[in-house]
Amino acid sequence: MTEAHETDVIVIGGGTGGYSTALRAASLGLKVVLVERDKVGGTCLHRGCVPSKAMLHAAELVDGIAEARERWGVKATLESVDWPALVATRDDIVSRNHKGVEGHLSHAGVEVVRGSARLTGARSVQVEGGGGGAFTARRGIVLATGSRPRTLPGLPPDGSRVVTSDDALFAPGLPASVLVLGGGAIGVEYASFHRSMGAEVTLIEAADRLVPLEDADVSRHLTRGLKKRGIDVRVGARLLDVTVLDDGVRADVRTSRGETSTVEAARLLVAVGRAPVTDGLGLAAAGLATDERGFVVPADWSRLETAVAGIHVLGDLLPSPSLGLAHASFAEGLLVAETLAGLGSPPVDYAAVPRVTYSSPQTASVGLSEAEARGRDHDVVVNTMPLTAVAKGMVHGQGGVVKVVAARGGQVLGVHLVGPHVSEMIAESQLIVGWDAEPADVARHIHAHPTLSEAVGETFLTLAGRALHQR
Ligand SMILES: Cc1cc2nc3c(=O)[nH]c(=O)nc-3n(C[C@H](O)[C@H](O)[C@H](O)COP(=O)(O)OP(=O)(O)OC[C@H]3O[C@@H](n4cnc5c(N)ncnc54)[C@H](O)[C@@H]3O)c2cc1C
Repeated sequence: MTEAHETDVIVIGGGTGGYSTALRAASLGLKVVLVERDKVGGTCLHRGCVPSKAMLHAAELVDGIAEARERWGVKATLESVDWPALVATRDDIVSRNHKGVEGHLSHAGVEVVRGSARLTGARSVQVEGGGGGAFTARRGIVLATGSRPRTLPGLPPDGSRVVTSDDALFAPGLPASVLVLGGGAIGVEYASFHRSMGAEVTLIEAADRLVPLEDADVSRHLTRGLKKRGIDVRVGARLLDVTVLDDGVRADVRTSRGETSTVEAARLLVAVGRAPVTDGLGLAAAGLATDERGFVVPADWSRLETAVAGIHVLGDLLPSPSLGLAHASFAEGLLVAETLAGLGSPPVDYAAVPRVTYSSPQTASVGLSEAEARGRDHDVVVNTMPLTAVAKGMVHGQGGVVKVVAARGGQVLGVHLVGPHVSEMIAESQLIVGWDAEPADVARHIHAHPTLSEAVGETFLTLAGRALHQR
């Protein structure tokens, strides 16, 4: 029998959670083995954040042509969208990022092992495939195997008529019509993308509003914006039955009021959430189990350590309050690496992690919704301002809103934005919430004029009792 290869830390899974752990651990002087069975970068880089945002950028350009013509007298028309060319640019961005991540890992001295890893004990791992072999970890093991799209029972994706967000990337062309099932961030982004590309889009959500984890006003403004763009948004609606046809799907949909209707579309995009990946991981051999939904729950959230000392977990394997977001997994990776290196780093403050939907309009928020704040018995004050109340908001002409939730006479609890570019605008609000600032602290700082961010500044001026343009 060959001897096990000994290292300080073994990271299983090279997505954003796993590779950030590996990079930080290596920078702290630890010897790291990172096992990845596909490509480093994981879901976010190859099937999630990066390719989808590249496509949404192209969608913005398409929308810009219509705006140029309709609002600005620019005599532009859209000839067509060359899908293979769009895909080529998207994939080039992914590929360059992939090389970048590989370069960072190599430069940091992380040993990347190709293959599928399985726990064989609390400190040992067996890798099958390319770089196979047995490995032991002196300090600990990090579970970072991520997630995959959830699918519907009895309706397996076929890559063309019934698809997941993974398949939508690799489809041969753009559909003329899409039925999107799921009004979370992924469903909304794909509905928005396909609408920009000219498809007839129906978006179905079982809850009574889109992005149901966000503030109710965010859902309201987002729904209004999507409907204005011609997306048929149906909330409180369920798929009763789906028939897969030669050239698409036919679906019976029922609303919460009991009304049924039939929707036909060239493609059904199933975006009903993500399922943690632990199959074949050998959790039982290390004395671990998942919860009933498949997540690995830390015994100590402040260190993201499981009930087995030295085995840590992060990223999409974690249940709430983690968020299934790449930037949350970066923060978790830093924390786990620092914990393994013996540093006493503070836990991840999940309430201060920004959440963004990159549709048109975009949504971006941080902290508590109004309902959450009231549910926690805060004496709440709220100030809401339309983006069109500032000059730059009028220039963009897409509507939108800024909503600030604060404790009366106290700190800012949440900031919620809908509109163009709010994914970039949320950065100041995450500092405001993360640093426990009060409206008066923010109101002291002057926002550039004319900008969209001015609306954020004005909202705080008013809350601080120094209203300028807001009545
Ligand atoms: C369409 C879409 C859009 C998204 N957009 C955003 C966004 O805009 N912003 C954002 O913050 N988040 C976004 N996300 C979510 C984000 O992609 C995930 O939260 C993030 O990728 C999770 O990282 P992770 O490291 O936990 O897992 P993953 O990225 O899933 O990585 C896990 C890795 O582990 C490997 N693996 C699994 N099992 C084994 C094994 N036994 N042995 C070896 N390797 C294994 C897999 O091959 C994979 O590479 C999006 C997701 C999707 C699907």
